[in-house]
Amino acid sequence: LNPVPTDIEISRAQTPKPVAQLAEEIGLLPEELEAYGRNKAKVRLSLLDRLHSQPDGKYVLVAGITPTPLGEGKSTVTIGLVQALSAHLKLNSFACLRQPSQGPTFGVKGGAAGGGYAQVIPMEEFNLHLTGDIHAITAANNLVAAAIDARMLHEATQSDKALFNRLVPSVNGVRKFSPIQISRLRRLGINKTDPTSLTPQEVSSFVRLDLDPSKITWQRVVDTNDRFLRKITVGQASTEKGQIRETGFDIAVASEIMAILALADSLEDMKSRLARMVVGTSRSGEPVTAEDLGVSGALAVLMKDAIKPTLMQTLEGTPVFVHAGPFANIAHGNSSVLADKLALKLVGRDGYVVTEAGFGADIGMEKFFNIKCRASGLRPNAVVLVATVRALKMHGGGPNVSAGAPLPKEYIDENLSLVAGGCRSNLQKQIQIAHLFGVPVVVALNVFRTDTQAEIDLVCRLAKECGASDAVPCQHWSQGGRGSVELARAVEEAARRPTNFHFLYDTEMPILEKIRTIAQRVYGAEDIELSPEARSKIDYYNQQGYGALPICMAKTHLSLSHMPDRKGAPTGFVLPIRDVRASIGAGFIYPLVGAMSTMPGLPTRPCFYDIDLDPVTEEITGLF
Ligand code: ADP
Repeated sequence: LNPVPTDIEISRAQTPKPVAQLAEEIGLLPEELEAYGRNKAKVRLSLLDRLHSQPDGKYVLVAGITPTPLGEGKSTVTIGLVQALSAHLKLNSFACLRQPSQGPTFGVKGGAAGGGYAQVIPMEEFNLHLTGDIHAITAANNLVAAAIDARMLHEATQSDKALFNRLVPSVNGVRKFSPIQISRLRRLGINKTDPTSLTPQEVSSFVRLDLDPSKITWQRVVDTNDRFLRKITVGQASTEKGQIRETGFDIAVASEIMAILALADSLEDMKSRLARMVVGTSRSGEPVTAEDLGVSGALAVLMKDAIKPTLMQTLEGTPVFVHAGPFANIAHGNSSVLADKLALKLVGRDGYVVTEAGFGADIGMEKFFNIKCRASGLRPNAVVLVATVRALKMHGGGPNVSAGAPLPKEYIDENLSLVAGGCRSNLQKQIQIAHLFGVPVVVALNVFRTDTQAEIDLVCRLAKECGASDAVPCQHWSQGGRGSVELARAVEEAARRPTNFHFLYDTEMPILEKIRTIAQRVYGAEDIELSPEARSKIDYYNQQGYGALPICMAKTHLSLSHMPDRKGAPTGFVLPIRDVRASIGAGFIYPLVGAMSTMPGLPTRPCFYDIDLDPVTEEITGLF
């Protein structure tokens, strides 16, 4: 239709086929499906065993140039591309998308189901609770937080003996360690299984985690942009006996448990990663893990359904997995290894899996390669780099673009010199970043109504001059899959080429050098500058044997640098590393660049002003 209706109107106008029918069409057995209502279902991981010998399809990553705060349409391009591949080129294809956080859905950016005629449907189910994975992560994360504070209280108020009697209760006159307690004893070097045989010293080291309250790194989480929780004080009730400390909340999707969900390749792997999570340090400087807290089994229980990807469909009835990972700025921002692996088997040798990395290629794609591909062993065949005329104009020197404000006139009228400036700076740099990993790049220009033919032609010509193997305009937002057929052909062509994939750094390099390599080669920084805190954390992580982990930078998505207002391809800057954290269960070191916050805030007029429900029809309005 012209004009294109709103995302929610388009979504509602299409009746999704029953998920059981979709599952049958893509070769799932009924027993491999766990339906959540009529439109979505979890897929059991046993499918991986059944399809073990099936060859994988082609693996395509959708990334983008540095976006405006409005988003440049990566999800929309991902959906448009699979619709074109499946419905128009008749190739098996699967999209793997990340589950959106309710922070942006109610905050600034809106949902992440794609948009226009390239969407996952029903978009309200996709954008809101889906199948509860983020709620499970929140529950698991906060169980760990509660376990930490309760344990510190109990240790502060009880003798060794009282603690031992409670931790190893006598049942019918017999005390027995639980399996999780036996593994803690082993890690303490105590190879005993009979609780009565421990010496008083062994009892003391067993019952006391002796967490240093000033060195607890675990935060609570909630999936709301609630800036007032960034720093809080807990333990103020008299029942907590003065165990007061400062802590804070992160947005739920920045939880280490989300990263584990995205990177685990089996239930067993997830369980051992959950057990390895380090929550803080003891007063003697030893790391304390979720397993030490005795909580890792319960976490696996809370997460056992979340580990299964959720099957949904596009507007044109092609399959989509939704699983894990938004926020490529403060997390690694990729969908799950398991969703990609299952999809690659389901499409078979000649099929395509299109997976999406968050924000600009400098963060989402860099983490996709260096963290996710390293963990999964999967190798991509091509990168689709999404650009828009509006973002290119911004990088070429156009005025600032902000959500909720009308676009300045430079963005509505033709302006070839701003477009060219954006192509020769940010677009060129992001293409070069993909080439650092040896993967061919197709530029997808997501066309907006205001783009002129001369602007479109210019972007496609300059993108090829900047090294893209192809560059094509895409009209999926207004036309559905039909509008992305040219992109689908270009991707098919690029994915046929041999790749020369390699990581940017070897994990054996010192932590500092890995951070410097990303800063200089990916962001274009002159060097890095470490705060004293960051430096001492790196020393500590090296001492603890965590030096060989990959790096997950927490950096703004609004610039290649750490300064959100520096557009284009900034040079001559020194990247400040304010702090360094470690996500040992997820398996990465997590430097915080500049003033990055792990809890977003709400703007003056958040998206929720427009969201409403008709109590009679139960129709939702205002979601986008
Ligand atoms: P990203 O994944 O890069 O953050 P999305 O695909 O979520 O971006 O798109 C952001 C928003 O922009 C969505 O609301 C979508 O409907 C809208 N949008 C995307 N492409 C177009 C287009 N070509 N014309 C108009 N609106 C678009």
